[in-house]
Amino acid sequence: MLIYEMKLKGNSDQLRRLDAAIRTGRFIRNSIIRAWIDGNIKGRNDAYKYSKILSDNNSQFPWVNKLNSMARQAHAERAWVSIARFYDNCKKKIKGKKGFPRFKKYQVRASVEYKTSGWKLSECRKYITFTDKFNAGTFRLWGSRDLHYYQISQINRVRVVRRHDGYYAQFLINHTREEKKELSNKQSGLDVGLNHFYTDNHGEKVENPRFLRRDEKRIKKLQRRLSRCEKGSQNRKKARNRLGRAHLSVSRRRNDWACKLAQRVIQTNDLVAIENLRVRSMIKNHKLAKSIADAAWSKFRDWLEYFGKVYGVPVVAIEPAYTSQNCSVCGIKVQKSLSTRTHICECGLILDRDENAAINILQAALKKLSTTVGQTESNDSGESDLCYQQETVDSKSSRRKSKPSQ
Ligand SMILES: [Zn+2]
Repeated sequence: MLIYEMKLKGNSDQLRRLDAAIRTGRFIRNSIIRAWIDGNIKGRNDAYKYSKILSDNNSQFPWVNKLNSMARQAHAERAWVSIARFYDNCKKKIKGKKGFPRFKKYQVRASVEYKTSGWKLSECRKYITFTDKFNAGTFRLWGSRDLHYYQISQINRVRVVRRHDGYYAQFLINHTREEKKELSNKQSGLDVGLNHFYTDNHGEKVENPRFLRRDEKRIKKLQRRLSRCEKGSQNRKKARNRLGRAHLSVSRRRNDWACKLAQRVIQTNDLVAIENLRVRSMIKNHKLAKSIADAAWSKFRDWLEYFGKVYGVPVVAIEPAYTSQNCSVCGIKVQKSLSTRTHICECGLILDRDENAAINILQAALKKLSTTVGQTESNDSGESDLCYQQETVDSKSSRRKSKPSQ
């Protein structure tokens, strides 16, 4: 799956119509969650049926019918994906929060999703027209991407994304990217640290990018400005937009950096082992600096997995347990506090703490591989999985990602 993103240029009336479409998508999703909570929806098909009930009920919800019928389905799917994910987490007995589906509130960052109808590209592919009853009309597409490269039939979905700095169209293109890679005879375990972005088992360290601190200062400043503005005032609105734009540019830069680094790591390794830190890093982040660094890490991880598939390099995530405490040679647990930077073991091993951890991570990954290879993983909810992937891929759509394979 490739994602191309282009900015939509249209007048304010057109944009308001897109807003209405986005609102309707959210309405369908929330209504289905509501019906599920009330016990009226048991499966995906019920969700589809319910979206039809909403659109047929023209007297009560006249706006639902205006949204293209396949787009209505797409939003029913979104609702079901979040329900299914919750069920899945319960089944897997994940500790802590299970991700109970929540109602979506209004947010600037939101989207409406069309499938293969409800839109039309112009002959030159520089304009897109939305053809459902919201009548948003024709928009100029701005961006450096060339849609000529693909068949229209390869475009599975078109998503309209609203951001703080405007409206974008994302084209989800059915295309598997594969690249050749020579064997490097190198395997790496990566340990994420507070002092470095990561340390690998060869002792190589990658520093945290400098812009993390600069970005932190910038966002803090804008946050302070926002909190000083009177609630409901025009100035507050402006300040919020400025903060939103700052977050956008920060996340774009971070994404770009993480993407390049991940590609380099994948290209130079035959196997990459990491700790499964995603869940932990998402919660309990009160400190801004840490949350920015964590966001960089989770982006990096997303890209590792993406490029892993592109280049055919396994990326193995292991459960974090004692990776920093245990000795990578004899396996004995050597207690150390966060400030202890060196691992010193009775067996004679003296090693940088993070490097020791990285070796443990690589070893755990190889062990995991040796016990799982050959077993087929059963997956009964194949379709919903795919849809979920499309949702998650959304967060990392950037220009770089959209680069077509040559
Ligand atoms: Zn030891």
